[in-house]
Amino acid sequence: MRYGRDVRGVGMTSERTRDRLIRRLKREGIGNDAVLARIREVPRHLFVDEALASRAYEDVALPIGSRQTISQPYIVALMTEALVRDLKPGDKLRRVLEIGTGCGYQTAVAAPFAQHIFSMERLLSLITRAQKLLKELEISNVSLRHGDGLGGWKAQAPFQGIIVTAAPADVPGELLEQLDEGGRMVIPVGAHGGQSLQCITRTADGYRREPLGAVSFVPLLPGTGN
Ligand code: SAH
Repeated sequence: MRYGRDVRGVGMTSERTRDRLIRRLKREGIGNDAVLARIREVPRHLFVDEALASRAYEDVALPIGSRQTISQPYIVALMTEALVRDLKPGDKLRRVLEIGTGCGYQTAVAAPFAQHIFSMERLLSLITRAQKLLKELEISNVSLRHGDGLGGWKAQAPFQGIIVTAAPADVPGELLEQLDEGGRMVIPVGAHGGQSLQCITRTADGYRREPLGAVSFVPLLPGTGN
C-alpha cells in the first residue's frame, strides 16, 4: 500500500506513543479489545492540522478548522464501544448513520464495525477534506453527504446504529424513528456545560435510555454552511 503521506508515523506519532494512548484508555475503563486495536491503528495525526500532529496521540480534543474539534480519543472509544456492545467478534452492524463527520476520524474508527456507514456533515469544507482522507486510507464502506443531519438520512433507514457527534438540546425525533428495532443510538444531549452522553436502544415497545457520563460537544446546529 502506498500513501501520499506518512500513515504509520514516526517520532511523536510512533508505535510507542500509540501504545501509551491505548494504556491510558484501558486505565480509563475502555475494555473492548477490538475497539482499542482500531484506535491504535487509525493514524489520528493525519486528521488534525500538521502543526498539531505531535499531539495527535494525547487524549485531548484538537481543532480541525471551521471552529470544530476532533473529539478526544477516550470519547471516540467510549462511543464506539457502546455502539458495538452487542456484536460478536467478527460480526458487523449492517448500516450505521453518523451525524457530524467532522474530519472523519470517528468514521474511520467505526468503519470496520459496520458493513456500511452513512455519514452527514453540515459544513462543506470539512466533508470535502474527510472524503479525501478516507479515500487515501482506503476506507471504502462509507458514504458521506453534505447536509443537515437533524432529519437523518431517510432513504437509507432503518439503521442498526446511529452515532451523533454534536449535541442537540433533545434527541431529534427523526433520528429515533430511523433507528431499527434492537438498534442503538449514541448521542450527547443537552446545552453546553450540562451535556450527558446517552445510549438509546430501540426495543419492541419503545426506547431504553442509559447515561454514559458527562461530555462536552459542539452544538448540533440546523442548516448547512461552507
Ligand atoms: N466526529 C467528528 C467530530 C466532529 S465535531 C470527528 O471525528 O472529527 C461535530 C461536527 O458536527 C462538526 O463538524 C459540525 O459541523 C457537525 N454538525 C453540527 N451540526 C450538524 C448537523 N445538524 N448536521 C450535520 N453535522 C452537524
